[in-house]
Parts: sequence; structure tokens; C-alpha cells
Amino acid sequence: MKYRLVCGIEVHVQLNTKTKLFCSCVNEYTPDDPNKNICEFCTGQPGSLPLLNAECVRKAIKLGVSLGSTIPEKTRWDRKNYFYPDLPTGYQISQFDNPVVEGGNIDFYIENKDTGEFSKSNVEITRAHLEADAAKLIHAGGKTMVDFNRCAAPLIEIVTEPCIHEISQAMAFVNELQLLVRRLGISDADMDKGQMRFDCNISLQNAEQQKNDELPPYRVEVKNINSIRSMGRAMEFEIIRQEKMLNDGNIPKQETRGWKDDENVSVSQRSKEDAMDYRYFPEPDLQILEISRDEIPSIEDLVELPSVQRERYLKIGIPHQTTNTFVTQSRAGKVLDSVIDIADAGDEYSDNIVITAANIIAVNLIAISIKDEKSIESLMNPSNIIDLAKLFDSKKISNSGLKKAIDFLITNPDLEAREIVATKGLMQVNDDTVLGAFVDLAIQNNPAPVEEYKSGKVQVIGFLIGQCMKESNGKGNPQKFGEILKKKMM
Ligand SMILES: [Zn+2]
Repeated sequence: MKYRLVCGIEVHVQLNTKTKLFCSCVNEYTPDDPNKNICEFCTGQPGSLPLLNAECVRKAIKLGVSLGSTIPEKTRWDRKNYFYPDLPTGYQISQFDNPVVEGGNIDFYIENKDTGEFSKSNVEITRAHLEADAAKLIHAGGKTMVDFNRCAAPLIEIVTEPCIHEISQAMAFVNELQLLVRRLGISDADMDKGQMRFDCNISLQNAEQQKNDELPPYRVEVKNINSIRSMGRAMEFEIIRQEKMLNDGNIPKQETRGWKDDENVSVSQRSKEDAMDYRYFPEPDLQILEISRDEIPSIEDLVELPSVQRERYLKIGIPHQTTNTFVTQSRAGKVLDSVIDIADAGDEYSDNIVITAANIIAVNLIAISIKDEKSIESLMNPSNIIDLAKLFDSKKISNSGLKKAIDFLITNPDLEAREIVATKGLMQVNDDTVLGAFVDLAIQNNPAPVEEYKSGKVQVIGFLIGQCMKESNGKGNPQKFGEILKKKMM
């Protein structure tokens, strides 16, 4: 492509406070019970006044600290004036030039789906500000109805720099942001409930503009994107649409477009407003908010951030994909951390044992916890996980022995792994003479595959190793079986 994507994203995240931003109405998702949590203020009745919910500010500050942003000493509320049927006041209380969070950045990795490789990336944050959400319009049966439950619900809008140049980067960024706000406990970020929504500002930069580090002379804002997948599709659509216009010698119009998810297209809504059009002015019913430095937690006061946890595991050598499992499934991550603590305290710590233990949790235990509907923490104590990893790493148990030991330990959680392996005869057999006898049996019982191997179809070896494993009741060392088989079939 001769153009480069230039994209900045505005992410609206609904905070999970008990009450709304400026009134004491309950902040909850009740689509089946419209207009349940409303009052004079959130329905825009004349004379009603906003009363700030300080918890929303605390949550915004937490986010700012986690992003390495500046939290100003003073932050101001502004009225953003516009008309829409879901906005009874005709204005939204937002923040214009004094947002509660300024600057910052977020680190994450992008997975290359073709190669399975991960590369480090980063998005710069311009600002994040608090604002009151609008109501929700419901179109049904040829009518449009208004549900005010969402009106004045607390939103934090996170605005990025136009520093996104790949669709995969945009998707990985919002994934990471979702992980972060959930980890911080400031939002449930459930996209099905509209708790995380995106507007993307998209334009294409030609080679000349790239060389001069110049932004394109237009930008198209695509609104109403409700999922990460839709965001990827909306960006793809816009890139193709704009590329075609540029190739025809036209500059795309500066405008706002709406994303129609069911039709997979963006449609023109209106020419893009400038800030002027909203006639922002300081909200007369709210004071300037002074944020005392004592109210700002340090980064150490916060929970461990997903990016920090991820780097900790990667440094041990746990593969990226497995690491992601632990970062996204925090309970499994806690089990791994207990395992790491025990391994650290022991005198024979090795990264390899922790990597094997991580694999046992990510592959075996998570699957069992889903199948049996049990919590992952309850399945096996961390010292047994470590012992199994040690037995496996030192080749004392095979993969099938490991699986059997896990099954025994899950039904008998008070027993010790070493005891189970010894008493249930799960020790892997490594003795060449004993293994040789199993190999002889396998060769004798499978003449056809043996002939195939001898005639050059070497991949049959896998099947024959499987037969040896069967003969040995899963106790033989499969690697050694392979070696002995090759010798005997020469
Ligand atoms: Zn209210």
C-alpha cells in the first residue's frame, strides 16, 4: 500500500461506580427495566443541580497513574452543547481543556497471526476526561423510545495520539486497555453492555506526508463502534474507501461517519464539527475541582498492572501465548504466582521447572476447571504442581504419567505428588532392556506399519511409538522408544 494508516482512537469506558456521575441514581445496566434509575437531574429537569460523585474522580486518577499520566492540580467541567433526542439538557457535562488525566502511554504486544510471533508496541495517550453519558434510544416497531437509565452514567473518555498505523495495533491496544481497566477495578468494560465503545479518527498519509512527518489534510471520524472485532472491520472498510478516493485524485471529506455493524459499512452522518461548534464553556453549576497531591496513589499502591505481570512471566521464559493466558485469567495467574513463590523459596529453583509448572496449569488444570466447573485454585496445591513439574522435567514421569498423576491428585488433593507417582506405578521407565522388550512386542504386533517404515515412510514412527507406549501402559519414555525402534528396524 502506498498510503500509511494514521489513526487516533477515542475509547469511552463506563466506570463501575455504584451511583451516577452527578446524581445519586443507581448506575446499573437494566435493559429490561427502562427508566428505572432516573431523577430530576438525569432527565434534565429545570432547576436540578449536579452533585459530583467523588468516586468517579478517584477511579479516573487511578487510570491516570497506571498510564503514567499527569494528574493536574485543578480540573474543570465544561458544557458541550449539542442537540440530540437522547440528551434532555441539550448539553453534556464534559471536560474540555482541563481534563483530569493528561498524557501517558500504554505498552502491549501485537501477535502476528501468520507467524505466531509477538512484537512489542505502544500507544501514546493524549488525555482522558470524565463526562456524563447520554440516554439510549431504542428503535423498535417503527417507533423510537428513550431509556434514561444510562443518562449521566459516568464515562471516562481516553483519547490517543494519531500514532496508530496498523489495524492489529489498534485491536491489541483496546484489548490491553480493557484488561487494564478491569484489573484496576474501575470498569467491567463489557462491550455487550455498551460499557466500552470506540470512535476512530482515520486518515491515510501519502509518501510525501510521511517523509515530512505531516498529518493528512483531512480526517474521518467513525463513531458507534461497539466491539473490537467491529473496530477492525470499520478500519478496514475506511482504508479501502479512502484509498480509492485518493487514488482517484480526491481528498476524502472531513466528516463524521457512523458504523453500521449489520451491513459492514460506514455511512456519512454529518460534516465534522470543530470544537467551536459545541460552544464549550465552563459548567456554571460545578466548581473547579482541586486535586490534592495526597489523593494521588503511587504506582506501587495500585494492583500489579497487566503489562508488569506479563514482563515478569516472559523474563522467566514462559512462552507468550501461555503468558497471555495467565494475564487475562487472573485466577490462574494467582495459582502460578503461588507456584513461583514456592519455587523461589526452595533450594533447587530453576526457570525450566516454573515453565513446566506454568504449562501444567495452562494446559491441564484450566481445561479440568472448565470441564468440572471447579475453581482453578481448588484443583491442586501449588507444591504438588511444582513436584509434578520436577518429576516431568527430570523425565521420571512421561506425559501420560503426568496426566494420570494429575487425575489422581485432583480426586485426592491431600496426597502428595511424589507419593502418588511412586505408589501408582507412574514412574517413567528409562531402562533400555525393559523398553527393548516393549519395542519387540510392538514390532511383532504391527508388521504392516513396520514394513511401511522400512520402505521409506518414516513418519510411521509416530504410530509405532504410540504402540510402544500402549504396550508399556504409558510408562515408557517415548523419546527412548523412538531411538530403540529406529535401531531395531534398521
Ligand atoms: Zn439521576
